[in-house]
Amino acid sequence: MTLEPGFPLKLKLDLHVHTSRSIDAFTSPKQLAIICRDRGLDGLAITDHNVLSVDSSNEVVFLPGIEISTRDGHIIGLGLSEAIPRGLSADDTIRRINNLHGISIVPHPYDLLRSSVRPNTLEVRPDAIEVINSSSFLHSVTWKRARKFAEKQNYPMTAGSDSHIPETIGRAYAEVESPSKDTASVLAALRAGLVTPVGRPIRVSERVRKMFRGKREEKFDEVDESA
Ligand SMILES: [Zn+2]
Ligand SMILES: [Zn+2]
Repeated sequence: MTLEPGFPLKLKLDLHVHTSRSIDAFTSPKQLAIICRDRGLDGLAITDHNVLSVDSSNEVVFLPGIEISTRDGHIIGLGLSEAIPRGLSADDTIRRINNLHGISIVPHPYDLLRSSVRPNTLEVRPDAIEVINSSSFLHSVTWKRARKFAEKQNYPMTAGSDSHIPETIGRAYAEVESPSKDTASVLAALRAGLVTPVGRPIRVSERVRKMFRGKREEKFDEVDESA
């Protein structure tokens, strides 16, 4: 018997990317497919703040996603058919994601500067923990804590760049073992833990660039939804 070459696929997917639909981000959704191709990514999850993205592409994988501002911190939902309102508890938010058969991820847990859910306080078990977030401040501390928690509790571990500018997309990605590129297969693979987190932090100069751009926006909008 011969094994089919390349089966299952190992897809490189940046699972945390913001576009200009987020008030503090600057990447046009139209740029995303080209950026993926340039950086060797098979695709990404678009996770704008409190806006569900359902972009599609014939060339790359776009997982529909949203980063929801819950009362307790941010929760990412992937594969949803409708947006979940902000301001609920993290547990209720995860319940709603489950009801919609989506995937719930706790992004940047333990991050000190951003609105982060402490996963050990949850009553409802999320599907995965983001253990690499390229934009985390003091990443050597926060990544380690997230990974330690996820390993101990046997959670699938994901990764994403949390890009707010085009330059940093792909700095982290999840390698997902999936039989195909369709959304349902990829989400099932994530849920089953067929995922390996890979990535590096963004550079200091990129953090500064994002901050300055972000500040300019906030003056007009007075909303801080950072990261
Ligand atoms: Zn966030
Ligand atoms: Zn984010």
